[in-house]
Amino acid sequence: MRNFCRALISGAMVFALSMTMSFSNTADGSEKHIGKAVETLPLFDAHIHYKEPAWGPYPPATVLQLMDKSGVAMALVSSTPDEGTIKLWKYAPSRIVPELRPYHGEAGSSNWTKAPDMFDYLMKRLNTYPHEGIGEFHLHSVDPSDEALLAKIAELAKSKNLYIHVHSGKEPVDLLFSLEPELKIIWAHAGMSEPAETVETMMATYETLYADTSYREGDILTPDGTIDPAWRRVLERFPDRFMVGSDTWVNEQWDSYQEIMAENRKWLGQFPRPIAEKFAYKNAERLFGRKVENRLIGKR
Ligand SMILES: [Zn+2]
Repeated sequence: MRNFCRALISGAMVFALSMTMSFSNTADGSEKHIGKAVETLPLFDAHIHYKEPAWGPYPPATVLQLMDKSGVAMALVSSTPDEGTIKLWKYAPSRIVPELRPYHGEAGSSNWTKAPDMFDYLMKRLNTYPHEGIGEFHLHSVDPSDEALLAKIAELAKSKNLYIHVHSGKEPVDLLFSLEPELKIIWAHAGMSEPAETVETMMATYETLYADTSYREGDILTPDGTIDPAWRRVLERFPDRFMVGSDTWVNEQWDSYQEIMAENRKWLGQFPRPIAEKFAYKNAERLFGRKVENRLIGKR
C-alpha cells in the first residue's frame, strides 16, 4: 500500500497541491495549513522496533543517524527481543522512550499469550528497566482463554501507569477496556485495517484511547495526494489522540526510513499548524511527559 502510494505521488505533486490548498484556504478565510513549514517540526516516532535482525546492519549509531536525518527527535521503541530496546535506550537515553514487548524466545505475535511464565517475564523486565508501556503486542482475535493473562497485564499497566500498545482490530480493544476501563491504550496503526469511521467511534467511546498512524499513510493520503475526507474528520475531531510512526518491523522499513517519515510530513503538511504539531510531537510530549525539541537531534 505504501509503495503503491509512493509510486503514485511525486513529491512535486504533493508540494503543488499543498500550496494550492494553503492558498485557497487563506483566500476563503479558513485556517491555513502548515504546508512546507512542516519540514521544520521535530517528529516523535511512536512506532519503532529494533529487532534482532537489525542489530548488525543498523547499529544504534546508524539508527540515531537515520532519526536525525528525518528530524525525528524522539521515539517510542519496542523490540523482539526486548534487549534491542534496551540497547537503543542505553545508547541514546534522551531520545528513546522504551516499552516492553512480550515477544522473546519462542513467544511471538501469534502465541505469546500462551507462553508459560509470560507474566513473570514481563514483571522481571519491568522491574529492571524503565519501560513506559507494554507492547506493541498483537491480539489477532478475542480468545477467552487469554483473558486471565490480559486481565493481569491490564491491572499491572494501570498500577504502574503504563501504556498498552496493541496491534488489533476493534474487538480486542473493547475487551481490554472492559477488563480495566482506566487503561491508557495506544492503538497500533490506528486499528490497522479498521475503517476511519470505526476509529472515530472508538475514539468517541474511550477517552484514554490513543493511536499511532504507522502504515496508515496510504489510507490518510488519497492517490492524488490530498487527505481522505473520512480520515480528516476523525483526525480533526480528535487532534489530541494521534501520533505518527514508522513501524520498523523488518529491515526494509529501516532501508526506507527517510522516505517513510517524509511521507508522514506530506500528510501532516495538509493540516493547520496547531493540529500538525500535535500529531508530529506535542501529543507525545503530553503522553510521555517529555520535551520533544529539534535541539535533541544529533545528541544522545
Ligand atoms: Zn509494530
